[in-house]
Amino acid sequence: MNLKTLKNVNLNGKRVLMRVDLNVPIKDGKVQDDTRIRAILPTLNHILKSGASLALLTHLGRPKGRKVESLKTDVIQKQLEDLIEKSVKKVDGCVEDFVKKEVLSLKKGEILLLENIRFYPEEKENDKSFSEKLAISFDLFVNDAFGALHRAHASTEGVTHHLPSFAGFLIEKEIKILSGILISPQRPLCLIVGGAKIDTKIGVLERFIDIADEFLIGGALANTFLASMGLYLGDSLFQKEKIDVANKFLKATKSNNKRCILPEDIVISAEITNEAKAFNVDVSELKEGMKILDIGKLTIEKFKKSLSRSKTIIWNGPMGLYEYAPFEGGTREIIKAIADSDAETIVGGGDSIDALKKYDYKVSDFTHVSTGGGAMLEYLEGKELPALKALQS
Ligand code: ADP
Ligand code: MG
Repeated sequence: MNLKTLKNVNLNGKRVLMRVDLNVPIKDGKVQDDTRIRAILPTLNHILKSGASLALLTHLGRPKGRKVESLKTDVIQKQLEDLIEKSVKKVDGCVEDFVKKEVLSLKKGEILLLENIRFYPEEKENDKSFSEKLAISFDLFVNDAFGALHRAHASTEGVTHHLPSFAGFLIEKEIKILSGILISPQRPLCLIVGGAKIDTKIGVLERFIDIADEFLIGGALANTFLASMGLYLGDSLFQKEKIDVANKFLKATKSNNKRCILPEDIVISAEITNEAKAFNVDVSELKEGMKILDIGKLTIEKFKKSLSRSKTIIWNGPMGLYEYAPFEGGTREIIKAIADSDAETIVGGGDSIDALKKYDYKVSDFTHVSTGGGAMLEYLEGKELPALKALQS
């Protein structure tokens, strides 16, 4: 793959439009976690130092094509100013004439933050004339929104048809690390997957039959696999219509001599609260009216043993309903094992990152924490990411 990077691109005096993923969590009008803002700083600083002027474009939350006051990018403006110790201009639009005026008046080294691109329905529709309007005041386009690469939207894909387009350093880094793992990983490679639904994960699991040495499956995801083995699941979260898919995967791991470990004991409860009474039982002992909400102690030990012999670990998806104290043990212990490991450790997924922060781990405790959940999974799965394709020569 030939990614068009910023190397050897003359930015001096250019007006640059940069798509970023500053979809940060916000509470009471404040940014809760600035990881995504920090992640774009290398590209941002490079562009400014090279004598360009810069307009930043991001989505924020799910405004569904309408203007939503609480999802305006103003909250990011302040946070960004604090981080770069430089003033950031803000304009309440993306394609209007008043935006054009602001862009054209920018001087070298100045930054302008545009409004939430998802206020416009044309963004998700990848509307051609809208993309053209986005591009009109600029000389070139830089995409550093790794987390949005799997979406063919106007600001990720459409705009590349109207401007010379390049990948920023964040995308370059993500692709370098992830492609490195696909091509020549340190072995054994262990893929540990949890979370809620099988749909978004099965593609990666299937592709990794040829790539991984070992699979560890937890979370509600494991339930569908347990169901395919004929186990009683009661009220547990699982996908009945995917039992065949799960079964097929298990057979494929066997015939390819790949080890796949499923929970052998589980944490169950009748209710989902922080005070719930939970029981650690064998997978065959789920009682009526109860749900599987975490992996059990024996399983944690087995998973840890497998992680300790791995040289590469890719983790996506919590091992249980970690949002509630009685069901957080599996996720917490597994995060600790991954963070403590000497292996190359790759983490991705919104909830997975939320969980590691909850237990006070830092991005630097892992080799790589991907800034894109869906995009990382689709890339690892081997799917073509439309906005990435647009950055290749
Ligand atoms: P990520 O965002 O890291 O990719 P997912 O979105 O796939 O992860 O799944 C995370 C969600 O799955 C969390 O809300 C978690 O509570 C839930 N989950 C994990 N295990 C279970 C379970 N056994 N029962 C119900 N929900 C679960
Ligand atoms: Mg999630």
